Amino acid sequence: MDRRAVAERYRLFPIFLIPIFVKNSFQNIEGTFDIYPGAQRATECTEIWSYLEGIIDEMMANYGYSEIRTPTLEHTGLIARGVGQTTDIVSKEMFAFERGNHSYVLRPEMTAPIMRAYLQHHLDQNPGVQRYYYIGPCFRAERPQKGRYRQFHQFGAEVIGTDDPRADAEVIALMTDLYQVLGIGDTTLKINTLGNAEARATYRDALVGYLTPFAEQLTQISRDRLSQNPLRILDTKVEAERVILENAPLITEYIDEESAINYESIKRLISSVGIPFVEDPMLVRGLDYYSHFTFEFEVKGIGAQNALAGGGRYDSLAPEIGAKAAIPAIGFAAGVERLILAMENQDLCKEHGSVKYDVWIIAVGDMAHEKAFQVASQMRKSHLRVGMELGHRSMKAQLRLANRANSTFAIIIGDQEVKADRATVKDMETGQEQEVFFSDLVERITKSST
Ligand code: AMP
Repeated sequence: MDRRAVAERYRLFPIFLIPIFVKNSFQNIEGTFDIYPGAQRATECTEIWSYLEGIIDEMMANYGYSEIRTPTLEHTGLIARGVGQTTDIVSKEMFAFERGNHSYVLRPEMTAPIMRAYLQHHLDQNPGVQRYYYIGPCFRAERPQKGRYRQFHQFGAEVIGTDDPRADAEVIALMTDLYQVLGIGDTTLKINTLGNAEARATYRDALVGYLTPFAEQLTQISRDRLSQNPLRILDTKVEAERVILENAPLITEYIDEESAINYESIKRLISSVGIPFVEDPMLVRGLDYYSHFTFEFEVKGIGAQNALAGGGRYDSLAPEIGAKAAIPAIGFAAGVERLILAMENQDLCKEHGSVKYDVWIIAVGDMAHEKAFQVASQMRKSHLRVGMELGHRSMKAQLRLANRANSTFAIIIGDQEVKADRATVKDMETGQEQEVFFSDLVERITKSST
């Protein structure tokens, strides 16, 4: 319906107001994305997502990780687990809401939901260590900016049921291999150990003791963190605070012996397969349940939000959500959008930004349309990627579509060709044309495509 027709129908509205209702009435919410075919921005481009998800699925399968899918919606209590939960996510970033007597949350991360599923379905009864991976949307009510969104996607892996340092080293190797397969350079792996819960608590006290006299010089955010989650102050990007932190006690001085030995083993293992790393005693994770080994992958060139992935050991998560005892577990979570930003920045998106067709069928005339439908069906059954226009455009217009679709061949069918039982096959690169019997088409194309 055009503007005037709409104005006729809704006489009450002045015509200049109509476009508000007719055109683009709704936009996606800031900090969320539509992902659609051929989008200019790589983070919104279906083809890039498909490519990336294919690589992730393959890499995870190579490492023996099976996909786990949990609901987007969880009980808020799973994420905000009682007092002492002082992370940014819980204190200000949850999309939580009430329905009846229940409070629900759009999951801000996947580790707690996966541990919930592990406990709920008694997956510990399965033999051996459990290896899971996931890809899916997460939600955080953050101020949207480049690399920081309200709905974003995480992929990650969790190894549950072992405290063997080989598990820690394995997830590091997995991430490193993935970056290598994607061709991403300029990444830095930072590692640290947080020690056991006691070591962490002692360190926490020492840090608070050191920072309290500087409280007046800290930002409001850091002052709040000083009483709630002081280790997070170590993440500060504020220069004046970084200067204060230069003489702060380091967690390395407080690490328990077992954790220190484990840490050495992990370093030895990852070095033995040639993975470079930087030790960073200031690296702590925002989430409370991490202990022992912790790590982060950073990349250059995508702005302030340069953390590609983070992870660590979270043995004490299970008892927080109902297990009788700690369950050793290690994992990482990686942002898909940030990975795409890094790929784009390193010019790795171009060749994956569009679909390549094996064949584009061009049909002109009623008999040809029917024949083309049958040819397409036969070719698709033979696993060829086939494109075809469904309107009544001219041959020239359809050839343009074939070109745009990046097709290897065009198959041209007119009513004449149907009568002669032959189609014209055009090699889109050389421009060469050849007449081929319909019965030989599949063989002709498959031979050339392999
Ligand atoms: P976290 O669970 O906070 O450790 O986040 C793990 C990874 O998810 C980060 O390293 C980022 O790559 C990504 N990430 C976290 N929050 C956001 C966000 N708001 N927008 C986009 N990516 C995010």
